Amino acid sequence: MNQKILAIQEIYREGKERLERAGILEAELDAWYLLEHVTGISKASYYGNPAREIRRQEKEQYFYYIEERKKRIPLQHLTGEQGFMGLVFCVNRHVLIPRQDTEILVETALERMKPGMQILDMCTGSGCILLSLLKLCKAEGVTGTGTDISKEALRVAVSNAERLGIRAKFVQGDLFENIGSQKIFDMIVSNPPYIPTAVIDGLQEEVKLYDPYVALDGREDGLFFYRRIVKESISYIKRDGCLLFEIGCEQAEAVAGLMEKAGYKDIRVKKDLAGLDRVVYGMYNGE
Ligand code: GLN
Repeated sequence: MNQKILAIQEIYREGKERLERAGILEAELDAWYLLEHVTGISKASYYGNPAREIRRQEKEQYFYYIEERKKRIPLQHLTGEQGFMGLVFCVNRHVLIPRQDTEILVETALERMKPGMQILDMCTGSGCILLSLLKLCKAEGVTGTGTDISKEALRVAVSNAERLGIRAKFVQGDLFENIGSQKIFDMIVSNPPYIPTAVIDGLQEEVKLYDPYVALDGREDGLFFYRRIVKESISYIKRDGCLLFEIGCEQAEAVAGLMEKAGYKDIRVKKDLAGLDRVVYGMYNGE
């Protein structure tokens, strides 16, 4: 590219076109977010002076990111963050990038929070679910534990807790493996891996190539982790405690069935903004 072109609007246009030519779906948005990330310039300030020049170093950095994005590396892996529930979470290739659909799970859980509750977030990843619950709940004295099989993911969760100034406990282990043996939880939330193995290959490349495989793979029918979590949950959840899952849009009936069989009642399904089943939850009715 011509070394003389340093006006920010030219750079933005070039970035956008390179992404469009590479078939990146949201080329314009991604080109903008990368520009903002590199230069720190806000939209208002950009439109105030689109002819302003930016430093060569920033330009080089910008086109480096554009080239990385062309390889389908997710935008959030380049900027290192993702907004979720109005908070900013650090992410990297070891955690699933927080999705807007998951906000439905958090909102449903928030409506059910009471003072003094103990919450468990199973498969916490970046910690986005647990940390949003702890940050946004109005009830006093709520405490939370997050668990994940991935040490690298937990490192991200711990740093998110520190950055957001939230106290939470994080435990590494295979599901309930290291959670202790008491029935102390009033609420268990989880967005476990739920994509059937055979479906993963057909997903968009950003997900298939760069989201951690262990965070996606729900084995043969996608229900592997729901079966285990539902079954094992009854040793950890209190009577009248609430179990809430994010689900794949075709899994509501199956997951509700598993919960009913294990002793959950008042099982409900909630839809996401696209009108698809997204959350299943119910109360534990046993001892
Ligand atoms: N709980 C995390 C999230 O919702 C991670 C979920 C996962 O790894 N399947 O983003």
